[in-house]
Amino acid sequence: MNNESRRPPPMTHPSYQQPPYQHQPFQPPRPPVSPQPPVHPPGQHGPPQYSQPGPRQLGQPLAHPSMQQRLSPQPGPFPNQHQPLPQQRSPLLPAGQPRPPQPQQRPMMPPASSGALPPPPGHPLPVAPQPAPQVATNPGPPPVTGHPASLVAPMQSMSLRAPSPQHTQQPTPQQLPPQHAFPPQQQQQQPPQSAQPPAVPQPLQPPNPKHGRSKRVYAVDPQVTNASTRPEAGGPTPPWPHGLNPPQQAAPPLSRSPVMSSIQGNKQPAMNIPGSPQQPLPADMRPPQQPRPRIDPDQMPAPVQVREQDQLAFENQFFGTMERDRVPLATTDYIGLDQGNSNPRYLRATTDKLPVSKDLADTSKLPLALVVQPLAKRRSDEVALQVVNHGDEGPVRCSRCRAYISPWCSFIQGGSRFVCSICSHANDVPNWYFSNTDMSGRRVDIDQRPELRYGSVEFDVPQDYHSSRAPAPLSYVFAIDVSAQALQSGMVKAACEAIKSTLFSATSDPKLAPENRVGILTFDKSVHFYNLHPSLPQALMLVVSDIEDMFIPIQDGFLVDTHASKDIILELLDSIPTMFQGSARPESAFLAAVQGGKQALALTGGHLHVFQSTMPNHGPHALKPRDDKTLYNTEKEKSLMVPQDEAYKDLAKECVKDGVCVNTWLFPAQYIDVATLAVLPELTGGDVRFYPNFNFTADATIVQHQLDHDVHRELGYDGVLRIRCSDGLQVIDHYGNCHMSTYTDMELAGIDEDKAMAAVLKHDSKLDPNRNVAFQCALLYTTKAGQRRVRVHNLNLTATSDIAEVFRHGDVDTTISVLLRKAIFDLQHKNRKEVHQKLTDLCVEILTAYRVNCASSTSPGQLILPEAFKLLPVYVHGAIRSKALRGVGNDMNTDARSAGMRLFNGLDVKELAWTIYPRLFELHTMSKECGEMGVNGYIELPTMIRTSYGRLNTSGVYLLDSGSDVYIWLGSKVDGKVLASLFGVDRLDQVDPNMTTMPVLHSELSHQVHAIMDKLKSQRSRYLQLHVIRQELDPLEFTFSTCMTEDRNAEVQTYVDFMCVLHRKIQEEMKKLQH
Ligand SMILES: [Zn+2]
Repeated sequence: MNNESRRPPPMTHPSYQQPPYQHQPFQPPRPPVSPQPPVHPPGQHGPPQYSQPGPRQLGQPLAHPSMQQRLSPQPGPFPNQHQPLPQQRSPLLPAGQPRPPQPQQRPMMPPASSGALPPPPGHPLPVAPQPAPQVATNPGPPPVTGHPASLVAPMQSMSLRAPSPQHTQQPTPQQLPPQHAFPPQQQQQQPPQSAQPPAVPQPLQPPNPKHGRSKRVYAVDPQVTNASTRPEAGGPTPPWPHGLNPPQQAAPPLSRSPVMSSIQGNKQPAMNIPGSPQQPLPADMRPPQQPRPRIDPDQMPAPVQVREQDQLAFENQFFGTMERDRVPLATTDYIGLDQGNSNPRYLRATTDKLPVSKDLADTSKLPLALVVQPLAKRRSDEVALQVVNHGDEGPVRCSRCRAYISPWCSFIQGGSRFVCSICSHANDVPNWYFSNTDMSGRRVDIDQRPELRYGSVEFDVPQDYHSSRAPAPLSYVFAIDVSAQALQSGMVKAACEAIKSTLFSATSDPKLAPENRVGILTFDKSVHFYNLHPSLPQALMLVVSDIEDMFIPIQDGFLVDTHASKDIILELLDSIPTMFQGSARPESAFLAAVQGGKQALALTGGHLHVFQSTMPNHGPHALKPRDDKTLYNTEKEKSLMVPQDEAYKDLAKECVKDGVCVNTWLFPAQYIDVATLAVLPELTGGDVRFYPNFNFTADATIVQHQLDHDVHRELGYDGVLRIRCSDGLQVIDHYGNCHMSTYTDMELAGIDEDKAMAAVLKHDSKLDPNRNVAFQCALLYTTKAGQRRVRVHNLNLTATSDIAEVFRHGDVDTTISVLLRKAIFDLQHKNRKEVHQKLTDLCVEILTAYRVNCASSTSPGQLILPEAFKLLPVYVHGAIRSKALRGVGNDMNTDARSAGMRLFNGLDVKELAWTIYPRLFELHTMSKECGEMGVNGYIELPTMIRTSYGRLNTSGVYLLDSGSDVYIWLGSKVDGKVLASLFGVDRLDQVDPNMTTMPVLHSELSHQVHAIMDKLKSQRSRYLQLHVIRQELDPLEFTFSTCMTEDRNAEVQTYVDFMCVLHRKIQEEMKKLQH
């Protein structure tokens, strides 16, 4: 209301520095926390010294009461005397505060992994061949050569030069002196190209911390910029011998199937059978040969080092959420300590220092946005979210903007009024909520009020917050396509087994609570409902053949408790796979089945899982095949990315209204039209699980694990999410798997721990740099157990008029997540090449903006990247070659792309970063500690290496996590001892490439690898299927090669070349600006 009653300047939260806390030294339960974090001199950053001295004392957060919470969690019984709130409005609905119009609805999408194709023969990359480039001479300050990791003082330069003749003769991995000994040896992994010019002694520790104060200068000779990646004749042998020049390439399987069944060009490679004579693969079956880079790739910033440094920085210390100087990367595993701001795993911003005005934001070119993952899984050693109950009145809220009470609200007039952190309105404190305040304005009861201490809390809410349904424990309906194709592929059996193992343990104990009910239906040309009432001797099937007028033929007994009806359910699931064998029909009425499931759940809301094998080909709104390959990579391709029938969208909206979340499980043998079918999960907050070329033997386990995860993860339904922000900013766009019913509310028929949504912000007016900018994300939803709750996440940031600050506090992970979602949205309206171009241009604009505004005095020949955004190019490069944006063609059809688009649209920031730049580990050199429990109570992972074939050693063993698969790559010269300790065999040709689990052996290496894989699986939302690949022997190596994201593919040049292109464009932009 009035400014003087507003909150004091940034980040001085009253509860934060209060005396009582400072007298309570925190004794950390486990990891050794240095009582006084070392303070480093300004401008210097080293891993252990990340905590920067700031206005607040870093040592203090540990003494914060929330840490005591950690030790002795307090449940939250709270007094509720009753004094009606000024007005009780319907939850989350707008109250006053008109918002400018926005696009009514954002169709969104989500699954897949990335891939690539080698260029066809005779189509060299679009880079002009040039004479061997001169060594770049940097006219600026003397270049510091060395590892990019070495930190340089501000504006020192690194020379990123063309390799001199010596450089070009760097030994390939094969020629390197053996640096590995098996089994694991204690040795820090070094990049294979160790024959660098004598480098400045390199601290093993990484380069700059994320928000370092120094700029990295990448000097690129303009000549080099244009030169680039011709394969060099006479150069050292690349890891792929035989000079492969992969032509019209054998395509990898449609996506993740280990069997290459969709190969073009009459090549149908047989799978290698262990023990059978091995033939090396024909040249065109092998991964593309990678040209020898003319610029040392080691000079390019890589996520590998940046992620590891960030991890190191947070290894043994907590991240206090008020410490905004350095927010952990999304990929970092840290322990968050909620001090009033919510943990970044729930809410992240593209920059932690907001540009003060629209002009400044426009100048920086950075997208201004938040990514919220409201139900994100917390670490088990973090304080659990407190549940607050304010009684029948519901949570205390601002009467003007309806924001929830938060640690950022201040109390005035002796505690009788509170000032809203969002709109600054001074509200009366309800009598029952009144408490006196102390001299500093802090409530004396604050220790008993989690909502005034923590950035994230959950409120139990009364009846006013119910939707049109009374909240009920979550019900699940499983709908299984039993058409001929589904039966034949083994999908029906896989689905039934997956449902069985999801609902019941191995000893047949129900895994769901008795109040969660389950229903099962099957469908072909008609829909079959099953009465599972416990009083029946066995399940009773009721068939609805009039699918145009769907109804539920069972009054009581369709949705049942898995405890009472256990035997009936188990028996039914055992018999479904054989029940229809004799009467299999080709028709599949998908839409009718969804309608049936929706009707069954209409009273309560719930989750519907539909298992579908063919394109819906029966009944109203049957789909027509439209996958016209002549449209691929043309202007008209985008028409294949939008639903062909609006009825699917309409049904999705009805599901949203009924609080029914639809998850589609697709197992197509041919085109199934994911673009149309995925509209249902997209608008209802569900998932598209996509298993092309389903093969029971290989894939049944994946479905089992995935369904188990999807059903048992933390989830809710019937949700509405709104993000409020303080004056001066507004949310203008939302991206995610949801339905936008109004401009401000994301309707989430289903919401789970894996889903993240993005909200794009815009300035309304100038922000006050002396005031915090407050964000509040409120999710009203029904939990699995049937409680109606509001989960609130608060984030307060500061604004700045210094553009360098905006860049310094940027968050590249969140930024790429937002850019990619925008690109995916554009794909429905724009040509894919235009989208690629737009993404690249955006990257250039951001880097140019930095260059012009923050580093204008540097030499034009130098490529200068903002420290916090130095990974932007590699992520944009990865995004362009990801499944969502990649061209469809030999190895991908529009289905795979549609699935990829939907996956990326819902993926959280961490998984997105790991998917567009996968984690690749070197197993043969890992230390003994890897795979063991570290001091922080977590399994230690080996050192990561960069994703390029040039980094793989033919005698090495590597593990790659692509997000949907985990590959173990065995070099052709791998040591027999390693094979023995991992697989129990001596020779490479004895290793079974079809294995889906690693043998458990009594060797240290085997133990380590199992522990590492378990850890990776625990970090992913999709089940990681194991594939073992023997170099030059297994066709799947091609798919593996598509995960080598620094290499080129058919459309995208190598990372190094991409960087050169960016550099050239930045120079052009700067020239334009000068004129
Ligand atoms: Zn307000």
